[in-house]
Amino acid sequence: MLDRILIVEDEEGIAKILERHLRYEGYQVEAVGDGESALRRIFEEPPSLILLDLTLPDIDGLSITRELRDANIDIPIIILTARDAIPDRVTGLDAGADDYLTKPFHTDEVMAHVRAQLRRSAGAKGKDPYKLADLTLDPGSRLAHRGERVINLTAKEYELLEFFMRHPNQVLTRDQIFDHIWGYDFGGESNIIEVYVRYLRTKLEKENEPRLLHTVRGMGYALRE
Ligand code: CA
Repeated sequence: MLDRILIVEDEEGIAKILERHLRYEGYQVEAVGDGESALRRIFEEPPSLILLDLTLPDIDGLSITRELRDANIDIPIIILTARDAIPDRVTGLDAGADDYLTKPFHTDEVMAHVRAQLRRSAGAKGKDPYKLADLTLDPGSRLAHRGERVINLTAKEYELLEFFMRHPNQVLTRDQIFDHIWGYDFGGESNIIEVYVRYLRTKLEKENEPRLLHTVRGMGYALRE
């Protein structure tokens, strides 16, 4: 089946260029110019991937991302941001986007990102869940469970937990974690790992559940019983 890509971009010139190149690569493409139409189309006929501009005439791209993730819709989202808008990128990824592209972009770069995200999402679907103690993480739904309790994760929290679940009972250093999760030109938020570990712990340790994500002083973090 052909992958369907939804372009959400109000600048017609950019939308046209993206559409032409994606079609040329063999994708089915639809373009809309505002947030309302985007949400309507996504719920009517979920695409395989969304290219999402952040500044739209009605609902902004961040709100769209949050709305989809809150509804547990895990279609890959690549946000399109203006050059050097680092806060936008970070907020976009925090809101649950998977990737970003900075305008003006080279079409080869767009295609590479699209292929990578589609590959990643196809790969996640058939995978078995990870398990440790009463914690499971399902790469298909991107949901975690502790026992029967369902835990919703943002895109970054998922990535971080998946990294730990793939290396159980092993100390991961801050450098390893940073390179793996934020391995792009992040702009150096030095406490970002602590912040995300705290987010994860808050979600993983409700109602006195025993700690699984441990700090290993002077070394890093380990996921273990
Ligand atoms: Ca725009």
